[in-house]
Amino acid sequence: MVKIRIDLDKCKQCLNCVRACTAFDGVYDEGPDGYPVVARPEECVQCLICHTVCPTNAIIHEDYRETVIINPDKVIVERYRNMI
Ligand code: SF4
Ligand code: SF4
Repeated sequence: MVKIRIDLDKCKQCLNCVRACTAFDGVYDEGPDGYPVVARPEECVQCLICHTVCPTNAIIHEDYRETVIINPDKVIVERYRNMI
């Protein structure tokens, strides 16, 4: 399952990730300390919108997906892990 972490040294508590998450119930909640918490990681649809709206690149997804690019001559498999 995808793992999601928030780097609290980078997080500015803007909560854009809480508001923008496209998962049904939302993956993030606002924690009592004002930082987002990863409350429902199993709901993540791996859209990466939260990365787009995070101003400080504080969100880290690990082991989240494999992209297969096919062209007529060869199959290229790229694994994006720990990249974002
Ligand atoms: S990748 Fe998409 S579904 Fe997953 S936590 Fe981010 S915004 Fe929510
Ligand atoms: S969008 Fe980024 S900086 Fe803003 S609360 Fe979420 S993790 Fe923190």
